[in-house]
Amino acid sequence: LTFKKTYSPLSSDEIIAKEKTNMDDKRFQHCVRVSETSRKLAKLNNYDEDKAALAGFVHDYAKQVPVEEYRKVIKEQDFDKDLLNWNRAIWHGIVGTYFIERDLKIRDAEILTAVRRHTTGDIVMTTLDKIVFMADFIEPGRDFPGVEEARKITYANLDEGVGYQLAHTLAFLVEKRNKIYPRTLEAYNVWSTKL
Ligand code: GDP
Ligand code: FE
Ligand code: FE
Ligand code: FE
Repeated sequence: LTFKKTYSPLSSDEIIAKEKTNMDDKRFQHCVRVSETSRKLAKLNNYDEDKAALAGFVHDYAKQVPVEEYRKVIKEQDFDKDLLNWNRAIWHGIVGTYFIERDLKIRDAEILTAVRRHTTGDIVMTTLDKIVFMADFIEPGRDFPGVEEARKITYANLDEGVGYQLAHTLAFLVEKRNKIYPRTLEAYNVWSTKL
């Protein structure tokens, strides 16, 4: 694993080492697989493979940051205070970019936006946003009913993959009676539905 360009003053080895100490091994291996899957989706969609591989690698950098640290950052930094009503499932993308900028010194707006949107999706999504969003969902370690269909659809058409994931995730959240983050619902309306 190595990144030709890190979009950071830190080297590829330094980024990898920092990420390794910020999460358990299971999560780290998921990030490696998301990186590889992002590279593959980038190639298929004529996007910069190295940039996609880095974005995929860092997407869950902040997934295991302690809850109290998140609450402090949301209160002290310029974040919507409504985020305090949510949890790490929502925070690690939207607020996670704060830790990526702080610790990994990555300031590239496209990479940070892709991380920010990787859990909920969004109304507007760039090619990189879609690549990371889908790589997270279909990486080879994922195993859920529908994952094979998700892979098939996504490799054939990235946008249709996004629509599939948003419908699948919404159905799963509703089934568990989880609270729906408004952006998840807005993204579903844009990418998954017709009138
Ligand atoms: P992961 O970080 O690799 O596990 O994957 P994601 O970042 O895509 O998702 C993290 C968790 O957030 C998953 O369990 C999703 O089901 C959950 N999630 C996504 N959207 C919403 C939402 O609108 N509301 C809630 N409560 N959870 C959500
Ligand atoms: Fe995530
Ligand atoms: Fe995701
Ligand atoms: Fe992930």
